[in-house]
Amino acid sequence: MTPARRRELLLDALHAVLGAGHVQVLEAELEPWTRDWRGRYQGRALALASPESTAQVAQLIELCAAHEVAVVPQGGNTGLVGGATPDASGQQLLLSLRRMQRIRALSPVDGVVVAEAGCVVQHVQQQAQQQGMLFPLSLAAEGSATIGGVLSTNAGGTAVLRYGNARALCLGLEVVTAQGRIWNGLSSLRKDNTGYDLRDLFIGAEGTLGVITAASLQLFPLPAAQCTAIAQLARVADAVELLQRARAALGAGLTAFELMSAHSVQLVQEHFPQLGGGLQAQAPWCVLLEFSDSESQAHARQRLEQLLADGLDGGLVRDAVVAQSLAQAQAMWALREHIPLAQSRQGLNIKHDIAVPISAMAAFVESTAELVLECCPEARLVVFGHLGDGNLHYNVQAPRGGDAAEFLRRHQAACNRIVHDAAAACGGSFSAEHGIGQLKTSELQRYKSPLALELMRALKAALDPRGLLNPGKVLPPEAAGTDGDKP
Ligand code: ZN
Repeated sequence: MTPARRRELLLDALHAVLGAGHVQVLEAELEPWTRDWRGRYQGRALALASPESTAQVAQLIELCAAHEVAVVPQGGNTGLVGGATPDASGQQLLLSLRRMQRIRALSPVDGVVVAEAGCVVQHVQQQAQQQGMLFPLSLAAEGSATIGGVLSTNAGGTAVLRYGNARALCLGLEVVTAQGRIWNGLSSLRKDNTGYDLRDLFIGAEGTLGVITAASLQLFPLPAAQCTAIAQLARVADAVELLQRARAALGAGLTAFELMSAHSVQLVQEHFPQLGGGLQAQAPWCVLLEFSDSESQAHARQRLEQLLADGLDGGLVRDAVVAQSLAQAQAMWALREHIPLAQSRQGLNIKHDIAVPISAMAAFVESTAELVLECCPEARLVVFGHLGDGNLHYNVQAPRGGDAAEFLRRHQAACNRIVHDAAAACGGSFSAEHGIGQLKTSELQRYKSPLALELMRALKAALDPRGLLNPGKVLPPEAAGTDGDKP
């Protein structure tokens, strides 16, 4: 039988399982989903298949396995490393989980929501809120990112400091294996020491070990009040000192501690002049703090004001504004959340998503800036992120008015090496929350130990021996050698 005839048979079988309209093959229908959100990768796909149930996902995977067709799972397509984009062959099946959006259960008593993989994060937040509960995962793409996607990439966001990343919020999973079998691990238990932790294997695996179809996730009581403030500081070291004081004074009530360079703030104000809440950058660094309180709004404001007043008195804080209304708090958050958008409006840039120990953060930022500017003096550093959990987006923007594409061609590899080597040198990571996808496979090869890579390959071979689940993602091709500098 010819390969074309075999593909035809597979598509007929998929049609029979999923029903008319849920196996799309036309280029125009596929086009929005075969390109990644940043526009860095353009793939092609045999078809876009959209099952509505776990049973359909299992049948689909079984059919693809029988026909030796690789499957690329996809949620909201908001990833930043090309992890959900098929390759250019046109032979891979794009598996959209977006039709699977049922909330199967929500229990305030257990503090658990069971959501299907295609549920949009914001929808889960809203459903929880209606029951007086908080689903704390919060990130800029929450209006389109899905539960399956945030678990597959182990997403972080702005609430990790208090509530942990996607992995920490996940109690159990339902997964379809590479053979099309369904593993029901939808536990709602906080404690369960019964053998190897299969759940944690699939979280952050980017769909290379199995397809997540549903998850049980932790909920928390909604805080009675929240208060937000922005403090301005002269140095990153001062921001780290303020973080220590905030932790000591506010305890678990400190729910966000976000760093923004003055340049990042100015970039937002330039591209979104309606945002910014009247903030005048008077110092090189800004910190956005959020305090969640179980008493009242007045109590929350008083606690945050006291912390900042002490900082101002001792000269640690240069200037501080505490939001006096919900609108003002939202304006502060909008400023923080629009930095990536302002960056893309400004043009192409080199993104880094590093984590380092908080104690090493100030020295890392200072010495890395020197090295990057030595390498390309005209570059603009756009540094911001989640200082509270040690994760910064240390981005390098092309010079104003220059040819940004040419800038990236000339400097990207060198900038990556400087920033990632500097992070590694202080015990950090080159990818804190975006994952590996296809963008960073060579970095994984470079920075992971040979044994760590060997163990990862052993897991892949055990769970997906024919390599049909999201091939080419996470693990670098074996023949790639050890030179991480390859494009
Ligand atoms: Zn982030």
